[in-house]
Amino acid sequence: MTERAPAPTAPLRARAEIDLAALRANVRALRALAPDAALMAVVKSDAYGHGAVRCARAAVEAGATWLGTATPEEALALRADPGLPSDVRIMCWLWTPGGPWREAIEADLDVSVSDPWALREVTEAARLAGRPARVQLKADTGLGRSGCQPANWPELVAGALRAQSEGLLRITGLWSHFACADEPGHPSIAAQLALFRELVAYAEEQGVRPEVRHIANSPATLTLPESHFDLVRTGIALYGISPSPELGTPSDFGLRPVMTLSASLALVKHVPGNHGVSYGHHYVTPGETTLGLVPVGYADGIPRHASGTGPVLVGGKWRTVAGRVAMDQFVVDLGGDEPEAGSEAVLFGPGDRGEPTAEDWAQASGTIAYEIVTRIGMRVPRVYVNEEQDGRDE
Ligand SMILES: *Cc1c(COP(=O)(O)O)cnc(C)c1O
Repeated sequence: MTERAPAPTAPLRARAEIDLAALRANVRALRALAPDAALMAVVKSDAYGHGAVRCARAAVEAGATWLGTATPEEALALRADPGLPSDVRIMCWLWTPGGPWREAIEADLDVSVSDPWALREVTEAARLAGRPARVQLKADTGLGRSGCQPANWPELVAGALRAQSEGLLRITGLWSHFACADEPGHPSIAAQLALFRELVAYAEEQGVRPEVRHIANSPATLTLPESHFDLVRTGIALYGISPSPELGTPSDFGLRPVMTLSASLALVKHVPGNHGVSYGHHYVTPGETTLGLVPVGYADGIPRHASGTGPVLVGGKWRTVAGRVAMDQFVVDLGGDEPEAGSEAVLFGPGDRGEPTAEDWAQASGTIAYEIVTRIGMRVPRVYVNEEQDGRDE
């Protein structure tokens, strides 16, 4: 569990401020982009580091009618939250043999099935539970990850229909996932869409009447209306981050980053020139200067690959991580400036106060912004702001 913060204004070593008004506005912006589809708020991995329960509640308040997680445990935890309406649909898709099928059925979760082993386990659990499972059949239309291969689709559909006729399950969805939706025009996109339509048509000819057909993740939701079908599954866009800088900035899509990561400077001190900084002395002060100690490190999710490159706003100026990021701390060269210990260092945020963004950190460390926010560690308290829906929301 994440630490509980005493109050939004209390001085903390570090904090990840989560702007729930921004999240709600992002949900509304995404619904406007996909007006004929329901919206699934993907809140796996603790809502990409933002806090699953609070983000799920805010997303539902703003109009999401589905929640999506990877693991069944994540989905069961959401179902146990009294703050969520009991009729919100919750789907999870990452199952392994021996998983909590019966608990999932009793919690009225939608479970994904790609393979005969999962169909066997879910029907057996439904028999024990004495009620039908809600099953969504997943096709691999080209991602090459989970999902049923097209050649095996007829067998999976037939098996599921048999179980449905025995009252053991209801086929609630037909779905798939894109490989390259963040590269508009990539030939795999049209190929996946065409195959998805074909596999859905086949299942419907056999008698499947799904509540939802869906394939769109955030990039497809933002750029490919023909992929919206009945439901769009948005993760990263909910958190106000563009799936890829090539697609556009968050504001190009009417989105606003939800997380601001900041820390209080633990120490500011004068050092002479030619002073090595942090493990390995990969940074050496070019002359007499001041150093600021930022008390977060790779244990908090700050990428060690950002050593020497990560940007931080201190005293109105961008500074760069000097030397290596350590487990709990890193140093910035303040160039002679003397902010007080306790001054705020902003690692990333929406960017409108001049601070870097999660995308800037992704560029600085050779990864994607998804990983930057999702890796922020449990030792960093999440501080929720704008929790109550109010007039400014509309
Ligand atoms: C994570 C995930 C999503 C959300 O992807 P984003 O690019 O963050 O919108 C959608 N569907 C599945 C199956 C996922 O695993």
